[in-house]
Amino acid sequence: MEEKATKSLNFIEEIVEKDLESGKVKSVVTRFPPEPNGYLHIGHAKAICLDFGLAEKYKGKCNLRFDDTNPVKEDVEYIDSIKEDIQWLGFSWGDREYYASDYFGKLMDFAIELIRRGLAYVDDQTSEEIAQQKGTPTEAGKESPFRNRSVEENLDLFQRMNAGEFDEGCRVLRAKIDMTSSNMHLRDPIIYRIIKRSHHRTGDKWNVYPMYDFAHGQSDYFEGVTHSCCTLEFIPHRPLYNWLVDQLKEGEYRPNQYEFNRLNLTYTVMSKRKLLQLVEEKYVDGWDDPRMPTISGLRRRGYTSDSIRNFVDTIGYTKYLALNDFGLLENAVREDLNKTATRVMGVLDPVKLIITNYPEGQVEELETVNNPEKPEEGSRNIPFSRELYIERNDFMEDPPKKFFRLGPGREVRLKSAYIIKCEDFKKNEETGEIEEIYCTYDPETKSGSGISRKVKGTLHWVSSEHAFDAEVKLYDRLFTDENPDGHKDKSFLDFLNTDSLKILKGCKLEPGLKDAKPGDRFQFTRLGYFTVDKKDFIQGKPVFVRTVTLKDSWAKLSKKQ
Ligand code: ATP
Ligand code: MG
Repeated sequence: MEEKATKSLNFIEEIVEKDLESGKVKSVVTRFPPEPNGYLHIGHAKAICLDFGLAEKYKGKCNLRFDDTNPVKEDVEYIDSIKEDIQWLGFSWGDREYYASDYFGKLMDFAIELIRRGLAYVDDQTSEEIAQQKGTPTEAGKESPFRNRSVEENLDLFQRMNAGEFDEGCRVLRAKIDMTSSNMHLRDPIIYRIIKRSHHRTGDKWNVYPMYDFAHGQSDYFEGVTHSCCTLEFIPHRPLYNWLVDQLKEGEYRPNQYEFNRLNLTYTVMSKRKLLQLVEEKYVDGWDDPRMPTISGLRRRGYTSDSIRNFVDTIGYTKYLALNDFGLLENAVREDLNKTATRVMGVLDPVKLIITNYPEGQVEELETVNNPEKPEEGSRNIPFSRELYIERNDFMEDPPKKFFRLGPGREVRLKSAYIIKCEDFKKNEETGEIEEIYCTYDPETKSGSGISRKVKGTLHWVSSEHAFDAEVKLYDRLFTDENPDGHKDKSFLDFLNTDSLKILKGCKLEPGLKDAKPGDRFQFTRLGYFTVDKKDFIQGKPVFVRTVTLKDSWAKLSKKQ
């Protein structure tokens, strides 16, 4: 019997299993906490697979919690897109759609409680002045002149801050912890600031908003979260997370924060601020542009949710920063589509080929297999006739020996059809462009007849009178540099790939593709995997988007260099 290899646990799963075994935790509760200030990207998919994956694996729960503490940058459009993306990835938060803003009341009560206990104070300094007093990791900070205000004065000022009496930026509330701590985050961090903006959920109710660090751990606590996973940058925030939860908690239960390595990918940027810049300055066609590393972009590009989950599974979770090869993600989608995509023929750069010994007006229906990986998907018929299209670069007037395609006097097989021989061609004398290629076919060699000869090349083709004329978009990587973000004196925009979108018109596709719909996925023989663009889709006029080439062309390129 074959033994099934069991994957070893990642370090967070190990922690969870220990906590369940020891009884420290009865049931696992995680959360995915996006800030609705942009669309989700492939890095978020890594966090989603961990947060929702842990809950699934250990029969617990994962909450969706929108971390909406900054009304300046947040928008309902982002909330909707985030929900769509998580569902598309195959995860569910049940009825637990939460918002940090739902806790603003409780957070305010807690802030007032901290003031009462002498653990928070209103600082009248600007954030610049406060930053100057922060010190350095090796040098203690300076105490604010407002640090020792009376509880009454603090309560009064904080209440007036929230009543809208003061302008933005002229007062903040700070936790009173330790200006000499070796951890900078404990040097009296700002916990509330004045923002006079409408919030997409709470309207004009509040004039003060909690800082991320003041909302996060407490929200975890309110929701009964057991394992709060975040990326490594939050390691230095953990003591503050714990300090705040310690002030808040009653009884035994507390949430704990665990940090894993974020996903970084070559040839792209992952910061939401930069992705927003690409969208706003129109370097791309929206957040779901097929070149974007967003979930919606990858979806429009033809990625499957399985391929993204498999990719995340392959790279795993560790405590070390890494830069993963974009090619790994592309391989994951190739592997998945190889199993599922229907094989079809389409000619992207057509040149006419005439079979001179094939009867004029005759049309034959030739059988072709839908997917050799899935025999149960059977076969279909495609029309063959005297005039065909083949790929322009499959013919050379004066080919070298190793060119196993078509040239004068040479033989190739047409896929699912016959062996043909090139007899002649017509060239535009002025432009030098090949206009027509003339071949003869050998009727004995029909595919499946059992009669064949050794020919080196097999070409794809489409019957000219039956062809469906289509537009095809070829997308490439958005950046030409492996690490567009990693250059000191250059902006990531300096590395934009100016050739990342080619729009081909007049492509000749096999006739059945006219009825293709968004969500359909194909392997165009010899060319790659393609899907129907869902943006501006018109029934009967699908535009095709290339998801990925058949092979990793970038790997070859970088080897050559
Ligand atoms: P920002 O806070 O700058 O707006 P962010 O990428 O941290 O951007 P959030 O919406 O706060 O965005 O992220 C939600 C969750 O996704 C967080 O728990 C965060 O740690 C996680 N996350 C974000 N980027 C990555 C990444 N590249 N790899 C893994 N997890 C990530
Ligand atoms: Mg964040």
